Amino acid sequence: MTVNLIGLDQEALRGFCAGLGEKPYRARQLLRWIHHAGVDDFSAMTDMSRVLRERLAQSASIGAPRVLHDTTAADGTRKWLLDVGTGNAIETVFIPETNRGTLCISSQAGCALECSFCSTGKQGFNRNLTVEEIIGQLWLANRSLGRGVTEERPISNVVMMGMGEPLANFENVVAAMRLMLDDSAYGLSRRRVTLSTAGLVPGIDRLGDACPVALAVSLHAPNDALRDELVPINRKYPIRELLAACLRYLSKAPRDFVTFEYVMLEGVNDSADQARELAALVREVPCKINLIPFNPFPGVGYRRSGPEAIARFRDVLMQAGLVATVRKTRGDDIAAACGQLAGRVQDRTRRTRSPQQEPSR
Ligand code: SF4
Repeated sequence: MTVNLIGLDQEALRGFCAGLGEKPYRARQLLRWIHHAGVDDFSAMTDMSRVLRERLAQSASIGAPRVLHDTTAADGTRKWLLDVGTGNAIETVFIPETNRGTLCISSQAGCALECSFCSTGKQGFNRNLTVEEIIGQLWLANRSLGRGVTEERPISNVVMMGMGEPLANFENVVAAMRLMLDDSAYGLSRRRVTLSTAGLVPGIDRLGDACPVALAVSLHAPNDALRDELVPINRKYPIRELLAACLRYLSKAPRDFVTFEYVMLEGVNDSADQARELAALVREVPCKINLIPFNPFPGVGYRRSGPEAIARFRDVLMQAGLVATVRKTRGDDIAAACGQLAGRVQDRTRRTRSPQQEPSR
């Protein structure tokens, strides 16, 4: 059986090379070929001897998940539907903007946390993605976008914000993020890699020690009673504990603020009073608040807040001295907007499935 090298970091590749009787510097060469150059064919690795290339071809492979669909929206947002086996699929979305390109990556097939407004939550949990499947999304997107990361980089930012709760797949997500940060692989700055969590408090603390990157937290409610309903993990890790974890994290983080995500649900969490309650709640945590217009999907009992309600909510936060932005809705025509990723995915975790399944925060 061959080893898939796409998910191995520099140290693991050194071990693999040692097994072949090769010098440690080969690991760096392999990383550069695989992740900088996006190569999946050992014969293209021209700074290695023909004999070594043949040995690599016999003992190893370089492979990412298979692309089922590749769609580009009118606004340039691009979405890949990827096969991760046994009838499951995940999605990766690229969002081009004037001065940056952001790739939204999935960490699990499905999600166990059952946030009430999230189509992934409705789908249930299938399994954690492997390191190969997580980093493979970045590798594939870089190749598909047509330029290596050493040239003008189409992907300047990565957000772990697709399908799944990344801190519930801690080891694999951290291993993949280390490859994103490695100069011999993607060389992304810690400030440009963001992990978004629904609030797994022990995971936030572990992340601060293992691999501090920018942190986003799905808050969505200004008090525990409402958050218990919207984000049920709140019953285990209530808001006060979550905010305390954010403060601890900030002492180790590459950015000096946490981003709080807040999905705008009409008549549920979007009143001016709730905006004031939210402002009071987060006042001790250096933060930015990202208001996300909800993307409805079939069978969900929520509606998107109107533009006036969203603007009023933002204004109350700003008058309280907070930085608040409204997320621009992208990729609507290919169902790539937040909360409506994925389409015709075969899912075996539930007997019924909606035509639109996915995430997220
Ligand atoms: S919002 Fe995120 S954590 Fe919650 S169910 Fe959806 S994918 Fe899971």
